[in-house]
Amino acid sequence: MSERIVILGGGTGGTLSANRLRGMLDDDVEITVVDHDDDHVYQPGLLFVPFGLARPESLVRSRPRQLHAGIDYRRRGVERVDINKDQVHLEGGAVLPYDLLVIATGARLLPEETEGLAGPGRLPTVHTFYEYEGAEALAGALAAFDGGRLVVDVVDMPIKCPVAPLEFCFLADWYFRERGIRDAVSLTFVTPLDAAFTKPVAARALAGLLAEKGIELVTEFNTGSVEGGDGDDAGDRLVSFDGREVPFDLAVMVPLHGGAAYVDASAGLGDELGFIPTDPHTLQSTVRPNIFVIGDAAAIPTSKAGSVTHFEGEILTRNVARFLAGEELEPGFDGHANCFIETGFHKALLIDFNYDTEPLPGRFPAGVGLPLLRESRLNHLGKRMFAWLYWHILLPGRDIPGVAAAMPHASKHVPATTDH
Ligand SMILES: Cc1cc2nc3c(=O)[nH]c(=O)nc-3n(C[C@H](O)[C@H](O)[C@H](O)COP(=O)(O)OP(=O)(O)OC[C@H]3O[C@@H](n4cnc5c(N)ncnc54)[C@H](O)[C@@H]3O)c2cc1C
Repeated sequence: MSERIVILGGGTGGTLSANRLRGMLDDDVEITVVDHDDDHVYQPGLLFVPFGLARPESLVRSRPRQLHAGIDYRRRGVERVDINKDQVHLEGGAVLPYDLLVIATGARLLPEETEGLAGPGRLPTVHTFYEYEGAEALAGALAAFDGGRLVVDVVDMPIKCPVAPLEFCFLADWYFRERGIRDAVSLTFVTPLDAAFTKPVAARALAGLLAEKGIELVTEFNTGSVEGGDGDDAGDRLVSFDGREVPFDLAVMVPLHGGAAYVDASAGLGDELGFIPTDPHTLQSTVRPNIFVIGDAAAIPTSKAGSVTHFEGEILTRNVARFLAGEELEPGFDGHANCFIETGFHKALLIDFNYDTEPLPGRFPAGVGLPLLRESRLNHLGKRMFAWLYWHILLPGRDIPGVAAAMPHASKHVPATTDH
């Protein structure tokens, strides 16, 4: 009997792994991708929507049309996975049996976990650009904002693209300068971390940029609630669990993230946040040998980013083929992440790192490549070109010439002032 691969999620990781596997495996291996809707959103583009730099509808393409011929697409929500019977239960009652399961259902925003962030109590001054409708609404709110306190707040880690909230701050600085009202706006970045970013060298560079642009940095702030709207003297404000307050006139929130809802309903599948325990090097889940995990759904210590998902794809698909052939898995994933950080004024930084090596200055991927940890127009062009690469190279499962899954070490150097 032919083998059945079921891939849950038709976003970045599900699409690129389905396409790669279709090219690698015999035609008699069935590949089915399941997703609950047909709209594939290019999420990195959401950052640009509030500033009028991208039209939201230009970020969306048909999900099934990104899949190569010979891949079956099921438009259904996943209700639960029975890891003991190797079955996926879909909304509406259908059951999909599998021999091998790839989980690619990403991360979900959980605003309801923070008091004041969801439901009827949510203030009209509170927004997010982390999903399509939110980014669109924020574009209207920013255009109407003529001055006051704008706060960008990360509720808790882990989040998708941990640099995106910083990019929002830098672009807001640019945007208000372009409008000639920067002096009337105070910008504050609020984070639960003890620095602007998780890794020391990059954290120093990013904190320097925040200071240079006059953006206040509030660290170790664990948001407990968003309060206000009652016209009292205190006004609208973020309140931390230890009682600190940050007042605002417009809040751009990055809500708590968790795994897909079906994970909680699937006995033995996920951790307490709904992410899947996964071997960080082979990308095989630690819950069952015939379950592999790609992208934001994996509980592994690297960034939740499309670039990571792309690098994982190369290793994951090779290991799926090895598993089906009864061969030993390759512990090949090194945690490689590569992120452009838009800094405004048509410039961007680039950071490149993995499990063991923090983002360092130098060049990527080699001596004549893009500058690392330094603002440049070239990096900005790289960031804007990425949408094309996403649809035409990454999703179809092709390799980017000169860019491998393993992090390059050449042309990087450790600055003398590093903490290590
Ligand atoms: C604002 C923003 C900016 C970003 N910027 C960058 C960037 O500059 N660079 C970068 O590398 N990354 C960036 N990212 C992160 C990047 O988009 C994600 O890391 C990447 O898409 C992860 O891929 P994934 O396949 O794990 O999840 P996704 O692409 O999110 O796909 C998950 C899929 O699972 C489906 N799904 C979930 N639950 C169910 C269910 N129950 N039933 C059926 N289907 C389900 C969803 O519909 C979705 O299609 C950004 C993200 C955001 C939000």
